[in-house]
Amino acid sequence: MTQTEKPAEIQDTPLVPMDKIVSLSKRRGFVYPNSEIYGGVAGIYDFGPLGVELRNNIRRYWWWSMVQNHDNVVGIEGAIITHPRVWEASGHVENFVDKLVDCKKCHQRFRIDHLPEENVAQNKCPECGGELTEPRSFNLLMETYLGVVEGERMKTYLRGEACQDIYLDYDNVQKSSRMAIPFGICQIGKAFRNEVTPRNFLFRQREFEQWDLQFFVHPTEMQQWFDYWKQFRFEWYKSILNHKDRLRFREHGSDELAHYAKQAFDIEYQTVLGWQEWEGIHWRQDWDLSRHSEYSGHDLSYTDPLTKERFMPWIVETSGGVDRTFLNLLLDAYEEQPDPMGKDNDRTVLHLHPWLAPVKVAVLPLQKNKEQLVTTAKGIHKSLQRLMVSQYDDIQNIGRRYRRQDEIGTPYCVTVDFQTLDDETVTVRERDSMSQIRLPISELQMYLFDRVMWK
Ligand code: ATP
Repeated sequence: MTQTEKPAEIQDTPLVPMDKIVSLSKRRGFVYPNSEIYGGVAGIYDFGPLGVELRNNIRRYWWWSMVQNHDNVVGIEGAIITHPRVWEASGHVENFVDKLVDCKKCHQRFRIDHLPEENVAQNKCPECGGELTEPRSFNLLMETYLGVVEGERMKTYLRGEACQDIYLDYDNVQKSSRMAIPFGICQIGKAFRNEVTPRNFLFRQREFEQWDLQFFVHPTEMQQWFDYWKQFRFEWYKSILNHKDRLRFREHGSDELAHYAKQAFDIEYQTVLGWQEWEGIHWRQDWDLSRHSEYSGHDLSYTDPLTKERFMPWIVETSGGVDRTFLNLLLDAYEEQPDPMGKDNDRTVLHLHPWLAPVKVAVLPLQKNKEQLVTTAKGIHKSLQRLMVSQYDDIQNIGRRYRRQDEIGTPYCVTVDFQTLDDETVTVRERDSMSQIRLPISELQMYLFDRVMWK
């Protein structure tokens, strides 16, 4: 089996209920509600010790494939606060609105673009059938103020989408890095939206993280690069999923397309929430650079060094969510496996790709009251820790320790037993198949490194 194939036992598992993931996330330290002791804030979350490891791995794998592995792509990290004119140029001040309706009977609130067509046509609540109010508009930008003196403070915004920084830095990057078109700029960063209906755990938050590529091309090469990145991003998501059949493209209809866009696709993933957007592949043409040229008075057009042709670059955008990736991967990986022997040995497993698993290996002495076992196990743990995230665990019996590691997705457990003291070999147990092999300690580092580091 290659690393990206899914094991036989997780071929056709049912869609995982969201409450299982919410509960596991809190219990095992992946995600906590923010400010929980004060009653929490809707749509804002914190990441715990395992969550931050998983999140870092997800980010690093994206950066590795998008930036490190493309000679024509570089990265930036822009600020969260920008000049307020940026959001006028981008159209967000005027157009970044959700239209909302309330049910007069059950008082639930809905985004009109999330309602089934028949409910909109009949002005009927999808939950109780009650009458809906007239739609009202809400701007999603989060306001903030720069300066301390009342009356001199400047109103600006926490960025509503991370990608605007890329347009703002485009000229600096192109000149300072001597990039020639076609080339791309990547960024991972926080975005803030006053979502009026934050819900479904990490799926729709008010503070979240996006990853963007803006790829700048000559207009005649737009289609070929659009097709390249569309396919590349699809394959990227497939490479980390168990349920690859739950991934698909959805092409935007003509009524959804921006006026400058010839095409747009969402990469969607099927969960208990239905088929939902994970990432958007957008044909942005010269809209962004032209608007910023117009609003700032700084000409962002490009002169081809060979042909001397001057033109406004066109842009292919791929824009996805780190948090939706985090959530979708947990939903994709989670499985409850009943004990085949009918005994009290059911297990919950996270079939996370070994590349992304928060803990790569757990080192377990068979017994904690045998000093030689403990010393050897701690030594192995120390040597592995320099290369990857390793956990040492000697609490409870070995079966329970395996279960605890399965539940957080640790791909390998190394057990130090009495034979280890005789011949310097250990047992390596693999999470999904639960198969065990015996390996010399001297080969352990290479064996694990080969399986948990991406390539
Ligand atoms: P949606 O239609 O779901 O509101 P969108 O089309 O507004 O999403 P974009 O502005 O294209 O989303 O943002 C790019 C990506 O950022 C989305 O594909 C998604 O993965 C992520 N994203 C957007 N809004 C949120 C949010 N409120 N919480 C978490 N992730 C989000």
